[in-house]
This record gives sequence, structure tokens and C-alpha cells, in this order.
Amino acid sequence: MTSSAHPLLIVGSIAFDDLDMPTGNFRDVLGGAATYSSIAASLLAPGAVRIVGIVGTDFPDAHLADLKARGIDTAGVERAQGRTFRWHGRYSQDLASRESLDTQLNVFADFSPKIPAAYCGSPFVLLGNIHPKLQVDVLEQVQKPRLVVADTMNFWIEREPKALAQMLSRIDLLVINDEEARQLSGIHNLVRAAADIRKRGPSMLIVKRGEFGALLFDDAGTFFVPAYPLEDVVDPTGAGDSFAGGLLGYLAATGEVTPGNLRKALYFASSLGSFCVEGIGPSRLLALGRSDVAARIAAFAKLVDHGGQLALPG
Ligand code: AMP
Repeated sequence: MTSSAHPLLIVGSIAFDDLDMPTGNFRDVLGGAATYSSIAASLLAPGAVRIVGIVGTDFPDAHLADLKARGIDTAGVERAQGRTFRWHGRYSQDLASRESLDTQLNVFADFSPKIPAAYCGSPFVLLGNIHPKLQVDVLEQVQKPRLVVADTMNFWIEREPKALAQMLSRIDLLVINDEEARQLSGIHNLVRAAADIRKRGPSMLIVKRGEFGALLFDDAGTFFVPAYPLEDVVDPTGAGDSFAGGLLGYLAATGEVTPGNLRKALYFASSLGSFCVEGIGPSRLLALGRSDVAARIAAFAKLVDHGGQLALPG
């Protein structure tokens, strides 16, 4: 597939998920942060996505072939002796919360990302939620990307504060949820928490708030994007990763890293996140065409269009 998009390197987990949902149990579902992000990004930046991760001998070639068929470069997916990373999650009846029942790192335990030489010049880099030391290792291997975006989670915030601080000092944009922002900063108020986190390195911060949308904090100010209101939410797994993939996919496709374009990218991020939750695992994302994305973006534009200036009456 040809594309004018700028190469986008995505590093992170590739997994099998067991999902206990109110509607039933689903086993061996294709998962992992890098998987969701890559699929979402490939819808906006076809031919530009390069995925780096690790799988075991149990990972079917057919899954990699599916990613390749979408124009995702899988040459950076390492196959190691042993089993693929497995995660087992159980959701509450209202899908508002989930607990991790089991996490088996398997081959992911010894993952040390090796960035293929052909990927080292990627101008856009998305560091999925892995050990912050490994995120820094990736940055040691790439040459001056235009935009480095990272995700992290409570586990690393609690256990690896030093490595996390190092990672933060080397990235441009951090994408985390509200709970993580509060935990990382030790500040409850999100505006104050954002200011604190931005002092630690990333000049830009996105705080995701699930069904309540997301906030961007950067030098141009604060910006809000809603979550698209859906009648049926099926499975929130991977929504955050799809959000990040949509964001980076849009930026890589347009090649413009400006406050204005970042604000547009947030609508694509939120759209891809909203599609993700409409199916079990990545099933809905995998069934999408570009026209579906265009239709949701149009619906989004309508959602936030109030018809002109908001002037004080009288
Ligand atoms: P999200 O719902 O956006 O938090 O992403 C869920 C995905 O992250 C699932 O597909 C899991 O396989 C993967 N995952 C769960 N725990 C971890 C972990 N500790 N490290 C990396 N990936 C994980």
C-alpha cells in the first residue's frame, strides 16, 4: 500500500487476552497495547505503521498476516521460545471497572526491544506501556524523532519512580488516565496535576477520562475532547491504546505537529477509542473501513457544533 504518511514506530505488548464480560467469557482474544494502537493507527496512516513487540511460539502466523494485510510492518515482531504474554481481566456489570485476574508475562518478561535498522529514523514514536527503562532503551536506538509519545501505568508509577522520571524527561507527550495523573503527581486537582507533570519533561500531556472524554494540556492552553456517546458499549479493553493509535495515526498521516493539528488529532483519537469499545477485543476495529471513520468524525463534528460564536446575550 502506498502512502504519503510519515513512518510511525509503535512499541509495546502483543498478547492473548481472556476477557470475562457481563455478556460471557471470551478466551485467547488477540490483545496487547501495541496491537490495538497499530490497528487504530493503520486506519488513518495506511502503510506507515511499524510494530515492535515479542510473541511466543504459540502465536499464530495468521494474526501477523492480518496485521500485515492492513499495511502494518511486522518485521520488528520478535518470535521467542515460550508462550506469548497473557492477560486475564474481569469487568464489572456496568463495565465501569475491571480487575486483572492474572498476568503471565511469559516471553514478555525478557523483552528487550530491538529496533530494526530500517525503523531507526521513524519520525513518530509511540512508546506503549512497558517498563520505563525499556522505553528509554528504545529512545537510545532511534534518531531524533519529531514526536515521542508515551503511555505508562500505576504499576510503574509505584515501583519504578526513577526510571519513570528518566523516561518523562525524554518524551514530548504523555498520554495517561486521570487516576494515573493524580498518582504520578500526588495532586488531586487535574489542572494542577497536569502543570506538575509537564514540569517533569513532556511539554504536552493528555489526560484520558474514559466516557468523560480527554483533556490536552500544552503551551497553547487546555483543550477538551468528549468521548463519543454510544448506546452499546461491549468491551473497553484497548480503548486507551486505540485512542493513542488514532492520535499518532492522524499526526503521522498529516505530518504536522502543531497545537492546532494536535487538537484535530484528538477527535480522531476519541473516534478510534469509541470504535474499539463497540466489539470484543479488536474485532470492531478490524472490521472498520476508512468510510466508517469518516462517518464517525462527521458525527463528532455535529456533536460539538453549536452553530457559531458564543456571545454573551443582551
Ligand atoms: P487498555 O484497556 O487500553 O488498558 O489495554 C489493555 C491491553 O493491555 C490488553 O490487551 C492487555 O493484553 C494489555 N496489558 C494488560 N496488562 C499489561 C501489562 N502489564 N503490560 C503491558 N500490556 C498489558
